[in-house]
Amino acid sequence: MAIAKIIKDVLFTEEQIKRRVSEMVKRIDEDFRSKDLVVIAVLKGSVVFLADLVRGFTRPLAFDFIGVSSYGNSTSSPGLVTLEKGITVDVADKSVLVVDDILDTGRSLCFVKTHLQRFKPREIKICVLLEKKGTRIVDVEADYVGFEIPNVFVLGYGLDYEDRYRHLPYIASLREEYYNELRRKGIGPI
Ligand code: 5GP
Ligand code: MG
Repeated sequence: MAIAKIIKDVLFTEEQIKRRVSEMVKRIDEDFRSKDLVVIAVLKGSVVFLADLVRGFTRPLAFDFIGVSSYGNSTSSPGLVTLEKGITVDVADKSVLVVDDILDTGRSLCFVKTHLQRFKPREIKICVLLEKKGTRIVDVEADYVGFEIPNVFVLGYGLDYEDRYRHLPYIASLREEYYNELRRKGIGPI
């Protein structure tokens, strides 16, 4: 499918994202000063964001990945989250920064946080590039948020539509006529 056909609006340009990410790095760097930092990125949506974020730090840090899959994001479904890939890095007594693309219902990040707590980190902070407003089902808050967005389906900069378009350097909204396909699968805006 041609990119221009599925995109409604560009919400954040490459330049805007770049500027915001460097602001976020600055703040996180100050907050985590002199702490042993381990960044845990949630696959796959956070990968592009992670790459830009970590390259902004001038301090030593480790990063690793965690994989989760969620089934059914609608309010009527149980919203089961399962672990697909665990971490291999040691986080005991370390400061953990969980990085994800977007905070929507909150189910994935709540699951990730609970899972990581088992390994006894010193603290866990959450950093997301995007946060949807008014869509939370599970009570979880991000400590660092790039941009707030309304309840629309977005793609690009790591975020996919049907497993594609993650490579786009900007963030765009999906045209509404493609929402039916998402609804059929129980993802995206209700
Ligand atoms: P939550 O568990 O907070 O409902 O869902 C978070 C995950 O759902 C995100 O990490 C992302 O993979 C997916 N997600 C939620 N909203 C969107 C969206 O607008 N676009 C895309 N591509 N994925 C989304
Ligand atoms: Mg994700």
